Amino acid sequence: MERTKRILVTGGAGFIGSHLCERLLHEGNEVVCLDNYFTGSRKNIIHLIDNPCFELVRHDITMPYFIEADEIYNLACPASPVHYQYNAIKTIKTSVQGTIHMLGMAKRVKAKILQASTSEVYGDPKIHPQPEDYWGHVNPVGVRSCYDEGKRCAETLCMDYHRQNNVKIKIVRIFNTYGPRMDPNDGRVVSNFIVQALQNKDLTIYGDGEQSRSFQFVDDLLEGFIRMMATDDSITGPVNLGNPVEFTIRELADLILGMTGSKSRIVNLPLPQDDPVQRQPDISLAKKILNGWSPEIQLENGLEKTISYFRNLLDK
Ligand code: NAD
Ligand code: UDP
Repeated sequence: MERTKRILVTGGAGFIGSHLCERLLHEGNEVVCLDNYFTGSRKNIIHLIDNPCFELVRHDITMPYFIEADEIYNLACPASPVHYQYNAIKTIKTSVQGTIHMLGMAKRVKAKILQASTSEVYGDPKIHPQPEDYWGHVNPVGVRSCYDEGKRCAETLCMDYHRQNNVKIKIVRIFNTYGPRMDPNDGRVVSNFIVQALQNKDLTIYGDGEQSRSFQFVDDLLEGFIRMMATDDSITGPVNLGNPVEFTIRELADLILGMTGSKSRIVNLPLPQDDPVQRQPDISLAKKILNGWSPEIQLENGLEKTISYFRNLLDK
């Protein structure tokens, strides 16, 4: 009989991490959730606390941490531009120093480690859609660099620990992901627009709204995570995980206004520095190595669930 796996999820009290902890527990694993609560919250995992297979640790991955684990999902890092720019030095330390700590641990205990990388490694891409072998177009000295370059360096570290120390690594490049438990104040476009629409406040489009993004519902991402972790040790990634259906920000605003029946108006505010013009994942590699993985949840269906989450939250 196979032994129960112990799985460490760093950033486990965050938006994606909390859904991942839930899913891993549901699949019969022991889960250790580690978080410093910078952008995450105990509220996101409070419903798991009585589960005997769940353990919660307050810890910052920029400090070393030791535990025996079979698998590590390294998600700890603020993800929204507002939060990662709040303390840029801490953000890059989390991606670099924190990832070194997690890779060091993976090496010692021979754990497999999945690194939550990002479409931001492509920067403001000049190739569209973005395949994994595109090296990107990233500003190394801009306000987004603490996040983008931190995540790029984390990928480098993963590959070097793999080549030098045979650490089993899995790099996934996550494209814009949304769903329940996003922080209503973290400034990302989906949560901003829904919260603004539900409160009949102006929807803030940055720039002319013609920039595009491809939005993936969190459950589709988790399916990709689990399949990637289960791949053969020879498969390291990086692999893109995202929904290739692309929308302009203006289209997203109109959709959310229609779905919420909101009376909000749209206002245009200045575009933040280095805001990528377009972004769409090429997911052919994911389909090939992850048994035909492909996102199943369309934007409207995912938005329905997310709107209903925020409606409940704001009614409280
Ligand atoms: P989130 O901010 O909700 O979650 C990040 C979690 O990491 C939070 O709980 C936070 O408190 C924790 N954290 C931050 N710094 C830490 C540290 N030094 N030590 C311990 N914990 C720390 O964001 P999310 O959307 O759930 O993102 C999770 C991961 O996925 C991040 O690594 C992010 O870069 C990556 N990602 C997310 C998206 C997306 O669209 N949501 C896209 C690309 C990549
Ligand atoms: N955006 C916007 N209004 C908002 C928040 C974001 O128009 O209230 C835009 C932002 O400028 C970007 C896109 O929406 O072009 C996605 O922003 P988000 O912060 O969600 O993700 P990222 O830029 O990291 O892809």
